Amino acid sequence: MIEHWIGGRRVASKTTFADHSPIDGVPPTPVARGGPAEVEAAVHAAKAAFSSWSKTSREERASVLHAIADGVDKRANVLAEVETSDNGALLRSHLRGVMPRVAHNFRFFADWLVGELHHPGFDTRTYTNHVSWDPAGVCALITPWNAPLMLATWKIAPALAAGNTVVLKPAEWTPMTASLLCDIAAEAGLPDGVLNVVQGYGEEVGTPLVSHPEVRRISFTGSVPTARLIAAAAAPNLTPTSFELGGKSPLIVFADADLTLAADLAIEQYDNAGQVCLAGTRLLVEESIAGEFTARLLHRIAMLNQGDPREESTDIGPQIHPDHLDRIDGFVQRAKAAGATALAGGGPNTDLGGLYYQPTLFTNVAPDSEIVTEEVFGPVLTLQTFSTEEQAVTMANSTRFGLAAVVVTTDPQRAQRVSGQLVAGTVWVNCFFVRDLRAPFGGSRQSGIGREGGNWSFDFYCDVKNTVSPHG
Ligand code: NAD
Repeated sequence: MIEHWIGGRRVASKTTFADHSPIDGVPPTPVARGGPAEVEAAVHAAKAAFSSWSKTSREERASVLHAIADGVDKRANVLAEVETSDNGALLRSHLRGVMPRVAHNFRFFADWLVGELHHPGFDTRTYTNHVSWDPAGVCALITPWNAPLMLATWKIAPALAAGNTVVLKPAEWTPMTASLLCDIAAEAGLPDGVLNVVQGYGEEVGTPLVSHPEVRRISFTGSVPTARLIAAAAAPNLTPTSFELGGKSPLIVFADADLTLAADLAIEQYDNAGQVCLAGTRLLVEESIAGEFTARLLHRIAMLNQGDPREESTDIGPQIHPDHLDRIDGFVQRAKAAGATALAGGGPNTDLGGLYYQPTLFTNVAPDSEIVTEEVFGPVLTLQTFSTEEQAVTMANSTRFGLAAVVVTTDPQRAQRVSGQLVAGTVWVNCFFVRDLRAPFGGSRQSGIGREGGNWSFDFYCDVKNTVSPHG
């Protein structure tokens, strides 16, 4: 049974819901089903804890965050196994990439707080301006299911480092690792009430949380429609929000590209069964090399190994949930009906059954069609061609999203020219998914509001104050 964590102890609810693993044969886990009462208790606990946590020194907070990171390292194997069972992403990715990153989230923001977060202030002829970062208060953090612990800790670590207290609402499809993190945080010496977790559904827990008048910040990662609801719920209190939302990122391959690298980068877009916000799902390929690139990519797709995400040899695991698989298949079948050609895949993997969906590659897609403009959030790529650099940029910028873009070229000047014109929070040139926590992260247009990472996180999670006083 997964319970809430409120005020430093486990709390049950009158009712539960079932958390189903996407892996066949794993029994469902009952989860406490929170509502307004649990939200009220959690916000109350977080507010009470704020009065002392916000007054701790930077060094004290950094030391607790380091202890949490050590606890994550110690339990990395269990966390990875539980996360894989809960969301179906590859165990090897959780072991080698995600859990080290989770620990790094805490270490990075602890070190940044102590070493980097300062502003020199400035003097005028007669006055001194002193800039400080004051903790904001109770932060509501709401996370999706595709990278549960990585995204939760990307928010929790800076919020706590800044001296705030937190109420986290994990996605209802992946409640487990947040619960384990509470044990780790308590063992690390995080005072009761500083971190609280309320489990449950969006409307039942999320809505009362984001509309609560005692909540001073809302950081949300999820879909655009939910962001609209949260923005409306936050409006009466004018609560500041940070939104990291969906994407439909372009991956642009120029004729001068290293085609082996281009195919490697394209194949990476199927990672996590395509359930990655940043994925470059729109392949834009220069006409003159489209034939050769497509042949290489199809060869690589045919080599992908789909199966149990706990196996070392697996490349693509299951989708998260039957509803999500149906949603993906809806996009694919409508694309076919609209005249798109599936060069690979095009439906569920009937050999494996369950929640496995074939890695799919579409061509003959209309520029304004749904499959080109809407986020599928599954293992589905489209391939379009262009003949000039200008056309590539226009096509790249043609959706309502602006989360990321990938540019593959051996010409450094072209890379600079094209990157400068792309509407995206992150542009990767000849690489993908490289994320340094010092860098700003977020989306443009409907891919988000605000940036987090390094000082950008502290700017969001703090009330930045300027104190002016006369010299002497
Ligand atoms: P979602 O918007 O359905 O849910 C996200 C979270 O919001 C869940 O915890 C859900 O319970 C909660 N929620 C739902 N309704 C709510 C409401 N009315 N008020 C408050 N909270 C509510 O998204 P999802 O399906 O879980 O995740 C997939 C989406 O997340 C995709 O669009 C993906 O691109 C996006 N995403 C973005 C990033 C990024 O960094 N930009 C990272 C990962 C995922």
